[in-house]
Amino acid sequence: MDLKQKQYADLGVGEAVYQYGEVIEEKLKARFAGIDALAEFNQLKVLSAFQKNRVSEACLLGTTGYGYNDLGRETLEKVYADVFHTEDCLIRPQITCGTHALALALMSNLRPGDELFSPVGKPYDTLEEVIGIRPSKGSLAEYGITYRQVDLLPDGGFDYEKIKEALNERTRLVTIQRSKGYQTRPTLSIDKIGELIAFIKTCKPDVLCMVDNSYGEFTEEREPSDVGADMVVGSLIKNPGGGLAPIGGYIAGRKECVENAAFRLTAPGLGKEVGASLHALPQLYQGFFLAPTVTASALKGAIFAANIYENLGFPVIPNGEEDRHDIIQAVTLGTPEGVIAFCQGIQAASPVDSHVTPEPWDMPGYDSKVIMAAGAFVSGSSIELSADAPVKPPFAVFFQGGITWPHARFGNLRALQALLDAGVVSGQDIEKAKEKLRKTSK
Ligand SMILES: *Cc1c(COP(=O)(O)O)cnc(C)c1O
Repeated sequence: MDLKQKQYADLGVGEAVYQYGEVIEEKLKARFAGIDALAEFNQLKVLSAFQKNRVSEACLLGTTGYGYNDLGRETLEKVYADVFHTEDCLIRPQITCGTHALALALMSNLRPGDELFSPVGKPYDTLEEVIGIRPSKGSLAEYGITYRQVDLLPDGGFDYEKIKEALNERTRLVTIQRSKGYQTRPTLSIDKIGELIAFIKTCKPDVLCMVDNSYGEFTEEREPSDVGADMVVGSLIKNPGGGLAPIGGYIAGRKECVENAAFRLTAPGLGKEVGASLHALPQLYQGFFLAPTVTASALKGAIFAANIYENLGFPVIPNGEEDRHDIIQAVTLGTPEGVIAFCQGIQAASPVDSHVTPEPWDMPGYDSKVIMAAGAFVSGSSIELSADAPVKPPFAVFFQGGITWPHARFGNLRALQALLDAGVVSGQDIEKAKEKLRKTSK
């Protein structure tokens, strides 16, 4: 047994799973080289924004109280705006999470009587209450903002005819979710988002297009704001926080949209001028600087997972070969036992709380029990190795993150070991998959 295999064994991964991992990784070499090249491109893009905006030691110091003239906060907003190629950006520790950032972008840019439109089907679970699809206090619906939706076609394409019909004189804002989130539809590529925005703007030039960019940042060379989005919105405890940001969200986009959001976040008249950054800036800067390589590690982990489970015969989205546009890997394990064992395996692979066992619970904002594995440095951070599964058919687990590739790799194999231990997959299944791969690679 070589040294690496012994380390894996000491951490709970047996020989069958270990060897299977070796075979899968061998197959992915060329693919991973492409991801390294993407990381390099995005690293230089970020570095260039840091240098252009003269990020200095003084930028890392925070402010307290009102936070007037917060150099670090203002410079960071310029750095983000440059990376996203937008006029402005609001990025604050006062934005508590991605849902908050999205709610802020919507509530500040819509007025009573306006209509919000999603041309890509149902939005992320937590937005249902923001919009009022599921009634909630303070929803857009309570303020007289209506909502309309057109689903994707069965093949994942846009239903252009219905989209055209749905756009009306009250449509003010179109929300486009880049990532599949907790669904089993395809994630949208930047090209596809560009096509959709171009179509919508042809039908209705004055409509605002917002992209929920969560999980998508740095997975391609371009961002949605490079293909016409008026606003891109996301969470700092996902890709752009690089695993270091302890809190926060961002809204990058047209000056007027960002200003509306700032007035709503603080108060009319105050806007971006207040909001002390406290002690958060070093992590927000350094996290953003690390984000391209951290995202690349997570991308490798997702591709590794797709190949592991596809070869074992489980449905996976995206499949093992497809291009990637976010860091989420959906694996349909088909049974509650499967999703629970998977999440427990991920937890057991974590640097923090590896000794605890996650169980399904009624999480706020979700309509079924959810099991979550997250032994993360930042609580709930899903750029760190994590897995979530709503415990309902088709019993798909959503796996994401891994701030280093070696950890994403190990986590994947530790989860597979948990499935083996729970009897969801057998030693024979793994042996067969391995043989098949060995044959096809010859
Ligand atoms: C995670 C996520 C959100 C919400 O972000 P939180 O930080 O969890 O509130 C919204 N949309 C998508 C697509 C997401 O993946």
